[in-house]
Amino acid sequence: MAFAAAASDKTTTASVFTEKEMQTAAWIRDAARSDNLSYKILESLTTEVGPRMAGSPGDARAVAWAEAKFRELGFDKVWKEPVSFPSWKRGHEKAEIVAPFPQPLLITALGNSVATPAEGLTADLVEFASLKELSLAPADKVRGKIVFINHKMQSSNDYGLVVPGRSAGASEAARKGAVAIVIRSVGTDSHRFPHTGVMRYEDGVAQIPAAAMSNSDADMVARMIKRGKPVSLKLDIGAAATGSYTSYNVIGEITGSELPNEYVLIGGHLDSWDLGTGAIDDGAGCAISMAAAEFIKRNGIKPKRSIRVVLFANEEQGLFGGKAYLAAHQAQIPQIQAAAEADLGQGPVTKMSSFVRTEALPLVKQMHTVLAPLGIEPGDNNAFPGPDMGDLRVAGAASFGLSLKADDYFDLHHTPDDTFDKIEPARINQAAATYAVFAWMAAQAPLHFGSGPELAKTMKK
Ligand SMILES: [Zn+2]
Repeated sequence: MAFAAAASDKTTTASVFTEKEMQTAAWIRDAARSDNLSYKILESLTTEVGPRMAGSPGDARAVAWAEAKFRELGFDKVWKEPVSFPSWKRGHEKAEIVAPFPQPLLITALGNSVATPAEGLTADLVEFASLKELSLAPADKVRGKIVFINHKMQSSNDYGLVVPGRSAGASEAARKGAVAIVIRSVGTDSHRFPHTGVMRYEDGVAQIPAAAMSNSDADMVARMIKRGKPVSLKLDIGAAATGSYTSYNVIGEITGSELPNEYVLIGGHLDSWDLGTGAIDDGAGCAISMAAAEFIKRNGIKPKRSIRVVLFANEEQGLFGGKAYLAAHQAQIPQIQAAAEADLGQGPVTKMSSFVRTEALPLVKQMHTVLAPLGIEPGDNNAFPGPDMGDLRVAGAASFGLSLKADDYFDLHHTPDDTFDKIEPARINQAAATYAVFAWMAAQAPLHFGSGPELAKTMKK
């Protein structure tokens, strides 16, 4: 393979960053931290594009914005790669308790949900504490009802525990004869905003409408149910599948000086949900990675390898951009020096973990030394690089996990409240500085970090 001959040093001799390189990295850390570019990029995206749900007119506007922004920022190469997926459109969405205490609820349809009949759909609610409890229930308790999964997220750590109720609840409920499902929002806030998010129908199971109600409404509905009388809900949802759509991964690259075909891969996802303007999810990740690469370019501290920023298409509805990137670049995995996506809000970064060959660990340690003054803890050597890059790691891409502090992330996630006013310059600037240090050091490193089939074999689940 031509690449193998050109690839950087595969020796196993210990190599370290020079004193001068360590000084440059420390300078990047301090100077980038007081640079406001990530904040300005995010202001531009959320103001000039706004909501950009995959397949919507905002998606196309975001792609045009991203291409123009990469050029304006002076990236050496800018290009797009197509990403196709089935698209979905939100319509009207209304819900009201019709008995015993009539009043409206604030709900939102979950992504992929089918519509209710035009006249709406009315049935009694049956409450479950979790998807697990629903799956254990006898069908006669559920048949003809609207399932209400009331699984409360206590903290951001609960996301993985609670989210299966959103993604898989509809088919589980439909298998037992339910006519619709309404879940408690997957979110940690106490505000009256419902949280949307994607759900999926299993093949061969009836497709029933699926929605989420705000946490405040979920508490109220639970209080009604506790009173012991049947609680009847009317749902009116107008969502629809709208056929195939082609969007793009938008890519900007800063060309390396010695090994331009090898690259450090950073990025975020360009699509958002439609309710807010996607400031934290994931405009922040796009802005952090664009600003990090631009900082290096602007200051003329060109590293040996290239730095590639990918703004992925349609993460929200099924990681379509990440899958398309892997399909297009699978044969060149060894060219990826290191991969790290930002997709958990505005920062700060609190921990750095790695997934590299053993010989590169001393370099990771030096990278951490530079980042430690930003309050970043060292992690293990089994890093997850982020949702759109997860499959690249499985394919053997050396990866870094630059963990973003997510305490308040699920207060805003997928709601109308995910807007630019929530962004704090000090937080996003710290994250952009971290990504700049990481990208520059990884791109400058004296050793290849080991991307390839051998590294894939060392991955722990
Ligand atoms: Zn996201």
